[in-house]
Amino acid sequence: MNQGKIIKGIAGFYYVHVDSLGVYECKAKGIFRKQDIKTLVGDNVIIEGLDEDNRIGNITEILPRTSELIRPAAANVDQALVIFAITNPEPNFNLLDRFLVMMDYQNLPTVILFNKEDLADDSEKERVKNIYRDCGCTLLFASAAREQGLSEVREILMGKTTILAGPSGVGKSSLTNYLLQKSTMETGDVSRIGRGRHTTRHSEIFCMEKDSYICDSPGFTSLMLPDIEAGELRYYYPEFARYEGKCRFNGCVHVNEPDCSVKSAVEEGIICRERYDSYLCLYDELKRKVRF
Ligand code: GDP
Ligand code: ZN
Repeated sequence: MNQGKIIKGIAGFYYVHVDSLGVYECKAKGIFRKQDIKTLVGDNVIIEGLDEDNRIGNITEILPRTSELIRPAAANVDQALVIFAITNPEPNFNLLDRFLVMMDYQNLPTVILFNKEDLADDSEKERVKNIYRDCGCTLLFASAAREQGLSEVREILMGKTTILAGPSGVGKSSLTNYLLQKSTMETGDVSRIGRGRHTTRHSEIFCMEKDSYICDSPGFTSLMLPDIEAGELRYYYPEFARYEGKCRFNGCVHVNEPDCSVKSAVEEGIICRERYDSYLCLYDELKRKVRF
């Protein structure tokens, strides 16, 4: 009996990473009779080894989950790391904010990493810092290509399971490759079975080091908004929190109402204009959405 973590599931097979032993190819025979739950990537499980030489086993138990993400489907995720480039490509703030709303909706703490620091001048860096200063997320800057700022990134991932997200071209692969270098050497490539450009249709987890996992989550670029009312969106912008209840109208959504304290704060530059504009944009989208 060993405890491990499901790092990938393909066609009825589950790949279970067991610390210091490697990755076992498992089936989940009999488990559904005992426990009426569907396995997820990220699940901590008990396996029995059936063939130790070939690392084949059977999952006998799914351990209790600390969290369950819907998008992407994964268990026991502690936080999200969303990666954008400061420049090249220019950050799409609307996409980033959409992502932050989605993660907040799922109660997941988020770290924003602005990569390609080497390509940006100080004013560009200050600009993004300023926009996201009060968004409630930790902000990091790095250059994956120059290997700058990466120890801070590693630090923040330590002891946690983190989902990685971001549009393409921002340096996600470069960063992942850097972070997994060590684990690849230590485990002789077993933690990276099937890694490649064309295998990322399913979520997959990689062991960075003991108890530290990163989850590659494909399909994050065309992020939808969570199923919330437009009137609730304001709660997903931490910048607005201290103005709640201070507008002329009760339940002010800070859009068209007169004497709105949020709008005043935007005028005064206390709330960042870019964040407010993105709020309006997402508000509009939620308002127009047909709800079923
Ligand atoms: P992904 O699509 O997000 O996985 O991005 P990649 O890791 O494939 O990187 C996209 C391009 O950006 C590649 O040409 C990388 O060499 C380059 N790149 C990645 N990180 C950096 C960085 O920190 N600085 C610079 N200048 N280029 C980078
Ligand atoms: Zn208001």
